[in-house]
Amino acid sequence: MDAKHYVKSVYEDVVRRNSNEPEFLQAVKEVLDSLVPVLERHPEYIDAGIVDRIVEPERQIIFRVPWVDDSGKVHVNRGFRVQFNSAIGPYKGGLRFHPSVNASIIKFLGFEQIFKNSLTGLPIGGGKGGSDFDPKGKSDAEIMRFCQSFMSELYRHIGPDIDVPAGDIGVGAREIGYLFGQYKKLKGGYEAGVLTGKGLTYGGSLARKEATGYGLVYFVEEMLNAKGLSFKDKTVVISGSGNVAIYACEKAQSLGAKVVAMSDSNGYVYDRDGIKLDTIKKIKEVERKRISEYIKYHSNAEYHEGCRDIWNIKCDIALPCATQNEIDLNAAKTLVNNGVIAVGEGANMPSTLEATEYFIEHKILFAPAKAANAGGVATSALEMSQNSMRLSWTFEEVDQKLKNIMVNIYKNASQKALEYDHPDNLVVGANIAGFIKVADAMLSQGIV
Ligand code: GLU
Repeated sequence: MDAKHYVKSVYEDVVRRNSNEPEFLQAVKEVLDSLVPVLERHPEYIDAGIVDRIVEPERQIIFRVPWVDDSGKVHVNRGFRVQFNSAIGPYKGGLRFHPSVNASIIKFLGFEQIFKNSLTGLPIGGGKGGSDFDPKGKSDAEIMRFCQSFMSELYRHIGPDIDVPAGDIGVGAREIGYLFGQYKKLKGGYEAGVLTGKGLTYGGSLARKEATGYGLVYFVEEMLNAKGLSFKDKTVVISGSGNVAIYACEKAQSLGAKVVAMSDSNGYVYDRDGIKLDTIKKIKEVERKRISEYIKYHSNAEYHEGCRDIWNIKCDIALPCATQNEIDLNAAKTLVNNGVIAVGEGANMPSTLEATEYFIEHKILFAPAKAANAGGVATSALEMSQNSMRLSWTFEEVDQKLKNIMVNIYKNASQKALEYDHPDNLVVGANIAGFIKVADAMLSQGIV
């Protein structure tokens, strides 16, 4: 069968099997569209059914998570772990705790993770998990009980050489701590490498917290440098105010950019003088409050309800670091009309397919999530290395390795884009570069 028909028939099967999973179908479509020229040059991938196999998770686990709130009431949430692909290493990917979590969201994230993890150049397969639990407004004790209940089932499916979860939306150092405590208790041994994003006192890596945001900015800076541009003196809008957004802001500011807006799920703040990151850190990392608090500290800043409108702000560089599909075609058009020169995706799949196409058509420098936000998981893999070696590297050592990894991802993706006749199209380049390594490993390992 020729490559075009093969890809079409695989996609039809995926649609038939997962018809009620729009986010998963979106992620698959974007990757498959890039793969036709690769399959034309590599018919052996078609013969070995690589694409048929890569779109189906190796294993999906769905489980009950019962927990008791502070008033004694029983709640039940649903837990997920999708072990998508282990061709190049143990499954690796975060856990997301958010009310929107369902099979489609976890599968799209797990699927993206296969290619992202491959791009890091480190030996990690793709997986993802989470729960529809909403951490917002929960007490610390409720969060702990939820994490313990979640791990009481998950522990039997994971391990340092099997599957290594980490954080994502709603799961940070606090949750990883509670999850690790419960895992250790159930296993009766100290397997530090079973989770990443751990606290620094018990096996965590320096620079892991900063890694996704810093890595995003290193990647975008590389992309800009290739065109003789840089972050210096650029106006930047960053959606989100979680881990990714905060450290993207920190690094962009240190490179001389002016970040004028950040958001949370309720709304955004606009500070024409430049966002004061210490205030955002205090509100979000220490007090766990809403971003609207910002204007109490900085009276010349504005707060606006509705997080999507952040894209109406004129900027040179947009860094979507909140969540999937936060930039639709309309937002993309507004950004382009307002003169945006670069978009760097810190969140996973923050641009819809139409928005992505629009940016590419209009020659906007576009850094796709799989490549641009891979610094987080790459540094997780560095944490695993340190755990295995039972030593810890300095902040500078980890940061330098992270920077090298991001520069290499940029080089690899842009070179593949060129090699496959889509110069400067990093969406195609990243998909192809990520895919080839996994496909070759799958080919070597037979039909399993
Ligand atoms: N959740 C992050 C991601 O989307 C990090 C995953 C990890 O460190 O395993 O890549």
